[in-house]
Amino acid sequence: MDKINDKIRGSLFGGAVGDALGYEIEFMSEKSIFHQYGKCGIQNYSLSSSEKKAVISDDTQMTLFTAYAMVFGAYRLENRGISANPRHYAELTYNDWLITQEMTYDEAVKTVLKDGPSFPHGFISDVLSDVPELFRRRAPGITCLSALETRRTQREKGEYIHSFIDSKINNSKGCGGVMRVAPVGMMRWSDDIEKIAMEGAECAAITHCHSLGYMTGAVLAQMIYRIIFNENNMTLKEITEEARDTAARLFGGDEHVDELTRCINDAIELSENSDSDLINIHRLGEGWIAEEALAIAIYCSLKYQNDFTGGITASVNHKGDSDSTGAIAGNILGALIGYNAIEQKWKENLEISDVILRMADMLSEWSR
Ligand SMILES: [Mg+2]
Repeated sequence: MDKINDKIRGSLFGGAVGDALGYEIEFMSEKSIFHQYGKCGIQNYSLSSSEKKAVISDDTQMTLFTAYAMVFGAYRLENRGISANPRHYAELTYNDWLITQEMTYDEAVKTVLKDGPSFPHGFISDVLSDVPELFRRRAPGITCLSALETRRTQREKGEYIHSFIDSKINNSKGCGGVMRVAPVGMMRWSDDIEKIAMEGAECAAITHCHSLGYMTGAVLAQMIYRIIFNENNMTLKEITEEARDTAARLFGGDEHVDELTRCINDAIELSENSDSDLINIHRLGEGWIAEEALAIAIYCSLKYQNDFTGGITASVNHKGDSDSTGAIAGNILGALIGYNAIEQKWKENLEISDVILRMADMLSEWSR
């Protein structure tokens, strides 16, 4: 396996590890977390009684649909010589995710899937269609569900949306946008870092239209891209600063861009002090909103650059949105160290790990 493939696998799989670990404690108070799991908090998967697996949540489900949007675009470029920006395929694959939340797998097999994939209104994510686990509802974000319904109505009316940032349908800055866009940076589909960043933002803005809801997507997509295809040997801190500055440049004039910069600076600064992780994470927030989730993930990644397990466990053991902070930290740390270096215990019993790895390999195959 080459190095790039290992990093792409690490990023997609690492995100799922953090998501699964955090999902177990997403809605728990710190008192209950530390009471139930001991003073260090949750350190291992707890397997669901029915599936006997560490189950993933909507974060990983949606991330896989982002990944498929990237693959779909690359495939079309190869076969038709022309391809739209990834955001336009993501809009359609997110609609597929919406379908998975609206019907059971059995119903889907009987209805939508029986006619096969039919672009553009049917289920296009064919490689994800035969995965019953993706049809389970794992605390899906209300904003994602309602925004995707609105986007569907817009499409049905024949409205073509060039930029989701310009087509605001809500004012949400929940972390549901940023937590799923890492795959925009997992494929080498452009050499232009601003283009990668803008696409990360556009994919987030499909559902989250407050600027902090999507500017955070620009930062994450770009960071993942730089970490995986790091030809300049930049350090993670340099990569973080570059992503912060690119976002500030792209969205210069936005009334919230300074807030984004401040959150990232706080994360960098706190990662260099010697206070406990919990104290530092409290200073950054709870992660329900995008800039806090990103900041917590960046903090944990900078602090635990060569310690995937340390970073992931730090990123989930707090009272906030543990699965999303875990998912984003996992995307970053996994990209940094690669799949092979992830401790074996995380590779066992993770739900649909075969699908996740297959998707990572497809992203890698289509990277130019
Ligand atoms: Mg979740």
